Amino acid sequence: PWLFKRGNLYYNVYAADIPGNPPEKIAYATAEKITGPWTYRGLVTGSPKAGFTIHPAVIEFKGQWYFFYHDGSTSLNGMPGGDCRRSVCLEYLYFNDDGTIKPITQTQEGISRQAASPQQAVQLVPLKDVRLLESPFSQAVQANYQYLLAHNPDRLLAPYRRQAGFEPKAPPYGNWESMGLEGHTAGHYLSAISLMIASGADPEGLFRQRLDSMINELDQVQKANGNGYLGGIQGSREFWKSIAEGHVELIGRRWAPWYNLHKMFAGLRDAYLYGGNPKARELLIGFADWCEATISGLTDRQMQQMLGTEYGGMNEVLADVYAMTGNKKYLDLAKRFNQRSVFEPLENHQDKLTGMHANTQIPKIIGMQRIAALTSDDTLHTGAAFFWETVVNNRSVVFGGNSVSEHFNDPKDFSVMISHREGPESCNTYNMLKLTEMLFMAEPKAAYVDYYERALYNHILASIHPTKPGYVYFTSIRPDHYRVYSQPEHAFWCCVGTGMENPGRYGAFIYAQSKDQLYVNLFIPSELSCAADGWVLRQETKFPDEPRTRLRLQLSKPAAFTLNIRHPVWVNPGDFAVKVNGQSMEVKSTPSSYAAIRREWRDGDTVDVELPMHLHTERLPDGSNWVAFLYGPIVLAKPD
Ligand SMILES: [Zn+2]
Repeated sequence: PWLFKRGNLYYNVYAADIPGNPPEKIAYATAEKITGPWTYRGLVTGSPKAGFTIHPAVIEFKGQWYFFYHDGSTSLNGMPGGDCRRSVCLEYLYFNDDGTIKPITQTQEGISRQAASPQQAVQLVPLKDVRLLESPFSQAVQANYQYLLAHNPDRLLAPYRRQAGFEPKAPPYGNWESMGLEGHTAGHYLSAISLMIASGADPEGLFRQRLDSMINELDQVQKANGNGYLGGIQGSREFWKSIAEGHVELIGRRWAPWYNLHKMFAGLRDAYLYGGNPKARELLIGFADWCEATISGLTDRQMQQMLGTEYGGMNEVLADVYAMTGNKKYLDLAKRFNQRSVFEPLENHQDKLTGMHANTQIPKIIGMQRIAALTSDDTLHTGAAFFWETVVNNRSVVFGGNSVSEHFNDPKDFSVMISHREGPESCNTYNMLKLTEMLFMAEPKAAYVDYYERALYNHILASIHPTKPGYVYFTSIRPDHYRVYSQPEHAFWCCVGTGMENPGRYGAFIYAQSKDQLYVNLFIPSELSCAADGWVLRQETKFPDEPRTRLRLQLSKPAAFTLNIRHPVWVNPGDFAVKVNGQSMEVKSTPSSYAAIRREWRDGDTVDVELPMHLHTERLPDGSNWVAFLYGPIVLAKPD
């Protein structure tokens, strides 16, 4: 056993033999006095790798807590480890607010990765600084351009005008836009055209015109509503009045009202942040004030009851309003949309997701991480990171998607998904990529990018038709199955909304940066310009049609920084090779890590990266007898 004190609480961590359930695990108890009484608090670890026995030690060093233990995982000179030849392991240790210990994840990497920091360690480069070069991604952006232009903003805004008492300028669209989810697409559309503007996919300024006129129109609507509201939900005024009066059960009788409004909240945010429209910021703040007025009279119990119905990422977007304004009342408002019954198990590393509607959960976890990043809340960060781990490792199929018929299946049984028409939903992966970006900013580890790459190429890029624009809702994993693409002006599913947004975001995660570090995450042909520092990085490749990429630097003056190039999980140890100006570099990297090259870079420097791919198979997470074939990160499919 190991005894230590943290704050006013004593901890005893010890090797526990659970009768009839060997091998040992580490458990712990706490007490307010060293003499007890002691209260059992649960397990800190699982059982050790390659052995029966495990023992603990705990220290605090420079404000960070560490957990030592041993297993038998290390082999030496061909001799395997085991009970009698033990390996020392070290992990970061984290605590919950109530003093309980967060169970550790036993990893090979231990503390060689960075400690979880809710603050952002790394920033993604601004979308406006990245331009895609010719590739299947730029072709998909063109398809998206056509799809977006095919829509009439007056029809998208018709539900908003109607709720404000105006005559619509054109009839509303049908499908989900007239079936209870009125107005959701206009929010997605604002996000989509703003992202296209930022990513340079608005060469004639048509999206800029549309964005400005839609925001002006919404400004009139908001003024006519008189209370900051901006929604297209039928009978909006009476409905939200009843909610404000405490009739929260009404939420469940409509089609996800907060989810619907969240799209307009996010659209206004993106119109400001990506589209650069200052009026959108004012509308957003007014809308957030309406939200505050609407829920201010509700008790926390009523709020939690209401959060049982899908609410999108209301916590995220309100946290963004806090980040924009610095006004803490929006942070408090954001926190009211944290659903405790979903968050608390995750904070304690418990996966209770089976059976839940999948895409209802992912956006609120994005909000969880967003609030963690803004407030250095390690508990929330831990929960969001655990959610990602369990969804990616236990609940996702080979192309990065999750869910069957929109719900999380039993991770031990994927048989339903194999036979179901409704396989993974595109929205889920759209949201998982956003979550991955945020977690990467807190902790820039290559595993996040390995997942992102897999899901981006195989699910997101594949969810838009390259020549006959349209988006996919479900990507079934049923053998020999087909996919259905949306048609412009006829389909207004959720996945059409997120599908419109995806291409504008293709450049978002290719690069990242911190003080004197530049990360090359993805091998997508592109050009990154930093006008302020006077440099350009151009990435030229036909990847994945060729197993290499080339980076060229244009610098106005020599600059010392570290170039971190991802060694993907699918490149075998020793196969990853880097040449700078034709000279081989000695790089120490392993699969799923970064090769760091620090030097004084000069204008014209060229970096060649070899990324040998190999054919391999992957089973479903339940281990059943279905395999997918992959070449590098690309899932292979049979031609039609
Ligand atoms: Zn969807």
